[in-house]
Amino acid sequence: MKYTKPRGTQDILPPDVYLWRRVETVFENTFEAYGYEPIRTPIFEHTDVFLRSVGEATDIVSKEMYTFVDRGGRSVTLRPENTAAVIRAYLENGLHRRGGITRLCYTGPMFRYDRPQSGRYRQFHQVGLEAIGSDNPVVDAETIDVVMTALEALGFDSLAVKLNSVGCAECRKPYGGVLRRELERLKGRLCEDCVGRTDKNPMRVFDCKKCEEVKDELPSISDHLCPACADHFARVKSHLDLLERRYEIDSRLVRGLDYYTRTTFEILHGSLGAQNALCGGGRYDDLVEQCGGPPTPAVGFSAGLERIISVLPEGSPARKAGRNAPDFYVACADENAAPRVVLVARGLRTLGTVEVDVSMRVLKTQLRQAERALARIAVIVESASPLHVKWRDMANREQIDVEDGRLLDVAREHFTDKRSG
Ligand code: AMP
Repeated sequence: MKYTKPRGTQDILPPDVYLWRRVETVFENTFEAYGYEPIRTPIFEHTDVFLRSVGEATDIVSKEMYTFVDRGGRSVTLRPENTAAVIRAYLENGLHRRGGITRLCYTGPMFRYDRPQSGRYRQFHQVGLEAIGSDNPVVDAETIDVVMTALEALGFDSLAVKLNSVGCAECRKPYGGVLRRELERLKGRLCEDCVGRTDKNPMRVFDCKKCEEVKDELPSISDHLCPACADHFARVKSHLDLLERRYEIDSRLVRGLDYYTRTTFEILHGSLGAQNALCGGGRYDDLVEQCGGPPTPAVGFSAGLERIISVLPEGSPARKAGRNAPDFYVACADENAAPRVVLVARGLRTLGTVEVDVSMRVLKTQLRQAERALARIAVIVESASPLHVKWRDMANREQIDVEDGRLLDVAREHFTDKRSG
């Protein structure tokens, strides 16, 4: 074989694409039910969009971005996540001038130069949403409620919601000092990367997989929240209680991106092993302003479709229907019949879906293929009978001759009978 797909990417083949579409539809319908409107942004952005927002000391920016200089000499990056891009679009298109809360949702591929392993790809797909314009804890609870509602509609029933608050810039100043002092003390046990993080961005130590033991000894931000953040966190929890959404507090959950403030959360699935997060999100009250907009609080999440599909419950409604079978399968008996096949297929398409077979294989093989495709009717066109086609009901294998000119009437009658019968 001459070519193979790049490492960390996947081909999603026809039977699976139907499953993917149904999963995406469940998310889209759920988002719509909560008032979220879809947005589509470019797959690449100016590199700065991610540098500043996601943060230079994060793994995503420092190690995982697909960044390249285009032919015009500009640095561009395949989006590693979508929040920063959605905020860029929100500001650039003046959506902030609408006032109130802007609720946006998206689906699409993201790219990270990560070490490929089970549940971790270099191109992966996320669904997600952003609620921009309110710092009300009701919206934080709503965000968790939307994704849980969608996951339940997909058949999941025992997911763990991990919840934390990472506070605001106000609480982080004193906390940063406390954390740095502790990190200095434990320096000998930190990995090289974390020694560097101590000065630049000490909270990123919590993302490190190598320093798990040290993390347990570090002070947690949730014990250092300012009164306003502590009150906000308490209200998020009480709204989740009202919605009967269960959660566990995880004071180490800081998430691997710099823009988060206050609420952070992840939804975990027990059988996914190390890459067990289906979804991650949180509040990011400073990002809009950092991107040049007016101070505008916001909250959002994104969920990974590869992981959701890999652990989709057996009984999930998304697994039910397969491919939509064609209404008509038009078989072409010989090369000279091809022009009539083209016209017959065009006529039938006004009534239903049509698959044309011009493989010129023997008729028996073509009909077997029609059976495999679960077609309802096979229409056989052959130059030996220039004025008629054969109409074969695949359910009972009854076959009749039909004049070309009557074909659409017969088809219409057939479907009307089926519907009324
Ligand atoms: P993050 O914001 O990085 O936590 O990503 C949100 C969600 O996207 C995660 O919970 C995963 O479900 C999914 N995700 C992130 N990175 C990858 C990846 N490299 N491959 C597959 N899914 C991913």
